[in-house]
Amino acid sequence: MPEAALPFDEAERLLSLTRSGLLEGRANRRIKGVTELATRALKRPMAAVSLVTADKQVLRGAIRMPTAPTPRAHSFCAHAILQPDRPLIVENAQEDRRFANYPQVTDPKFRLRFYAGMPLRLPDGHAAGVLCALDQVPGTLSDFQIAILRELAETVEDIFAEQAPAAGERLTLLQELRRAASAGDFTLQWQPIARARDLQVHGHEALVRWTRPGGVPARPDDFIPLAERSGLIGRIDRAVLWAACTEMASLPDERRLSVNVSARWFGLARPRLPGLIAQVLASTGLSPDRLTIELTERVIVDNPDRALWELRDLKAIGVRLALDDFGTGYSSLSYLEAYPFDIVKLDKTFVRGLGANERSEAVVKAVIRLGHDLGMMLCAEGVETERQLEFLRIHDCDLVQGYLLGRPGRIRP
Ligand code: C2E
Ligand code: MG
Ligand code: MG
Repeated sequence: MPEAALPFDEAERLLSLTRSGLLEGRANRRIKGVTELATRALKRPMAAVSLVTADKQVLRGAIRMPTAPTPRAHSFCAHAILQPDRPLIVENAQEDRRFANYPQVTDPKFRLRFYAGMPLRLPDGHAAGVLCALDQVPGTLSDFQIAILRELAETVEDIFAEQAPAAGERLTLLQELRRAASAGDFTLQWQPIARARDLQVHGHEALVRWTRPGGVPARPDDFIPLAERSGLIGRIDRAVLWAACTEMASLPDERRLSVNVSARWFGLARPRLPGLIAQVLASTGLSPDRLTIELTERVIVDNPDRALWELRDLKAIGVRLALDDFGTGYSSLSYLEAYPFDIVKLDKTFVRGLGANERSEAVVKAVIRLGHDLGMMLCAEGVETERQLEFLRIHDCDLVQGYLLGRPGRIRP
């Protein structure tokens, strides 16, 4: 009977779980609220938060599950915590070598077949246990249901961290976003990108906007990450690409446009981004050299090899590539050399420091110089003051974007 291995940080993990107070029953009532939501939203009869101790799994908020602790050696959850960032889905435990002999599977009292568990982290990052849903019939979870499970797990983590529980709000947002993505219910705003030298408009960046039912605008920084986690981003990016290219192609002049696309495209088997972009360009009649695709370095960090050939395919179509938000993540200078970007967009956190913070200034100067040596254009984001603009001009930055030059809004024909 295969037993789960121990997590590499097992000793610290157990210490952290013991200190959390969860084993003494802290926050039980709020946890129960989430497991109830889980059974309804995932349409499974059983759910629980299990805490994995040294030798057993202790259930909290258990719904239609035996509350007596299960030995760790025979628990699904002990396997689930070994991969803390992904759910463990067991479609039919009876046919899965790892679990087929577990008493919970073989014992006619339980006869468990289906298991879906998302590991739960304590505020210090150690896995405490799992939010799981179970069933006596085999089954599977759709991508959307996996997204629900992840959202609910994050809510439990908020409870662990003693933050306000917001499971209902999270699910509502996710469901509204799904409806909007199906209906293509988004609008665009355009923000000008100007030449630093003379402030002539160089192009416009398309920024997606979404108004929630009830008229509340949602911030992209809130709903784009949710769309990425739930797999809805593909539909959103596609809608934005079509709308942005259609609008620009209809204008009488030859203005350039930039469109953001998610790194998630590069982790999917299909459909590939170059094919989609070629199709949009062909249908709208927009010339490829007017379109810049903005990507963050997550594309490279998550899928370094795939990124290289996919970015080359994009270049072959004739579009330009911009590395967005440079300076926020790993910001490895080697990316600039190894990947075929035309433009580097310096993140606004650096630009904010110009005229005030010598370190930011040193970094900006160095990146501009390096970018130029590698044949790339530099664009500074978030330019809000004359002082920042002046610095960027003196140091030969090519393009600027920010509230000083223009806020996102409608495009004038
Ligand atoms: P981004 O691509 O770096 O876009 C620039 C963001 O900075 C925009 O925020 C813009 O409104 C804001 N901004 C522009 N000038 C200034 C300034 O002077 N000061 C300050 N403080 N902010 C400024 P927004 O529209 O909220 O978008 C946030 C992020 O959401 C974008 O960052 C981009 O990563 C993502 N996003 C937006 N539209 C799309 C889309 O269609 N698809 C995808 N995948 N992501 C998108
Ligand atoms: Mg951008
Ligand atoms: Mg940016």
